[in-house]
Amino acid sequence: MPELPEVETIKRGLAPFIKGKKILEVEMLRPKLIKGMSPSIFAKKVKGDTILGIERRAKYLLVPLKSGNTLIFHLGMTGALLKSVHKKPLSKTGEEAQKYIRISGNVILDFSDLRLFGKIWLVPSKKVLEQKEIKKLGVEPFSKAFTLDWFTKELAKRKTKIKLLIMDQAFVVGVGNIYANEVLYRAGIHPARPANKITPKEAKKLHHEIIDVLSDAIKHGGSSVDNYVDAEGGEGTYGKLHKVYDRKGEPCTKCRGVVQKISLGQRGTYFCPKCQK
Ligand SMILES: [Zn+2]
Repeated sequence: MPELPEVETIKRGLAPFIKGKKILEVEMLRPKLIKGMSPSIFAKKVKGDTILGIERRAKYLLVPLKSGNTLIFHLGMTGALLKSVHKKPLSKTGEEAQKYIRISGNVILDFSDLRLFGKIWLVPSKKVLEQKEIKKLGVEPFSKAFTLDWFTKELAKRKTKIKLLIMDQAFVVGVGNIYANEVLYRAGIHPARPANKITPKEAKKLHHEIIDVLSDAIKHGGSSVDNYVDAEGGEGTYGKLHKVYDRKGEPCTKCRGVVQKISLGQRGTYFCPKCQK
């Protein structure tokens, strides 16, 4: 599933390419990906509009349009938003078969999603923050609101296992399963520790590592697991730098220990029992 670094990578890849471009055509092979309005109204409203830019909120891509509407994309489990050079129409067979929604003009944007959990909305820009899915989101880790002071106080209030808490999108956005494992390893904290048992010193380390791991992952174009590709269809290379994620039974990179796997909140949880207390 694309996490924050992957979505940010897509955003950065698309930004210079789509800004100021006019939408001339909307093709839909899987109209059910369009939510909140009928696909035909969606197409009619979007056609002729101009793309002002692209932003990210958590794992949502927001594309404001000149008309005062905003396109919201969620990539689901296996979604991708690709700039395309193809002029071929979408079809149910061949290379174009996995591209489901195409927005084209003097730019072609393909939304592809093998498992069809992705979603696309069109909402008035001033109502984006009121959108149910966006409204419930927690603090953005790269924003000014994510202060150490706030983070430390919030941890002290909660008994939730620390890995589940940092993955809770209503608390902090963007730390999905892969990065939660990596962040806790770097911070030397056992994933099942209750949040309120984390010392202020550890909270400081954890706060730092959340920002640092996500920044490193963005620098490397994200991690390519579950079909993730960037806006150019390329793979991220951060996966090669995972220290614990998907490394069960392999040696720890810091000590002589062995990476172990447990299940927390039904998610594979990897850690070094010697380094993480
Ligand atoms: Zn270790």
